[in-house]
Amino acid sequence: MTRNDWTKEEILDIYNKPLMELLYDAATVHRKHHDPNKVQVSTLLSIKTGGCPEDCGYCPQAARYHTDIEGNDLMSVSQVKAQALRAKASGSSRVCMGAAWRNVKDGEEFDNVLEMVRTINKLDMEVCCTLGMVTENQAQRLAEAGLYAYNHNLDSSEEYYKEVISTRGYQDRLDTIGNVRKSNVTVCSGGIIGMGESLDDRAGMLVALATLNPQPESTPINALVPVEGTPLEEQQKVSIWEMLRMVATTRIVMPETQVRLSAGRTDMSREGQAMCFFAGANSIFAGDKLLTTPNPDVNEDMEMFKLLGLEPQKPFEKKSQPQSVSAEESQYQPLGEKPKWSRPGHTIERNVEAKQKAKTKI
Ligand code: SF4
Repeated sequence: MTRNDWTKEEILDIYNKPLMELLYDAATVHRKHHDPNKVQVSTLLSIKTGGCPEDCGYCPQAARYHTDIEGNDLMSVSQVKAQALRAKASGSSRVCMGAAWRNVKDGEEFDNVLEMVRTINKLDMEVCCTLGMVTENQAQRLAEAGLYAYNHNLDSSEEYYKEVISTRGYQDRLDTIGNVRKSNVTVCSGGIIGMGESLDDRAGMLVALATLNPQPESTPINALVPVEGTPLEEQQKVSIWEMLRMVATTRIVMPETQVRLSAGRTDMSREGQAMCFFAGANSIFAGDKLLTTPNPDVNEDMEMFKLLGLEPQKPFEKKSQPQSVSAEESQYQPLGEKPKWSRPGHTIERNVEAKQKAKTKI
């Protein structure tokens, strides 16, 4: 049975076990709840890149920092369809569309995203979106369009979140996840390690995720990719041992969740990734880019799958395909809502410095 009452102490005890014991325990849980030879493959597509008003310290898409990324306006439905077909042909079962927005606003752009959801659903692929904060009505509209999953990461513990982001609050993240939960859309939520957080913070993030009831259906575990110009540019990369411990602990406390190896996979050897799959990771992002940071080539991934005897999971193996309702038949119409998502606005010294540096570079 899945437990929703994990404490930080229990999670730290698991995380700090002798490694062989931890891996064995995680692999045992994994085998009870999943086929250990199947890995779900998602393709992440940046449908609107850069120019984001938020100040997330790890993110090269924040307009206030000076990074080398090339921004683009919202892609067209036909561009998205072409990319989704390519992803399907290369073995992906899911397309995750990311837009660098603070939150969803009703209007033409959101209507276009809904059309993208309908289009990909019709290709018999799982569709996921990550668009920032959403209201309950917006989540329902996405659900009706045929959305399978909504991603909204908690990033870190509530305490450490305040050291990384000042333009929005942790509770708004939880409220967005709550809004998604009221619809038929599954929840994808995880975080990032290597941002300078303590082990306590890693455990705190897992408490926040594992005590959600129900737990998220998928949980990406990212290793920070430090990008020049961002406040976290000088962070040391996390070692494979930390990644393994985090993956294994996540698997134990969230037995049903698909645990996804996400950013930072280019720094992992095949042996390291194989150990992560053994420890319970059963999802990856495919494609040579993860929004803006590098990712292994899809052919390399398929070679690795062959070597390890892994198979890509088929779409809708975990939950049936949602029906897609046309815009005209939708029960949920735009409400023109202007929700006041919070802006804590406290000062994060390194974010302020990165913003100042960016000004001198322009
Ligand atoms: S992580 Fe998302 S919300 Fe934060 S700056 Fe980047 S694009 Fe914006």
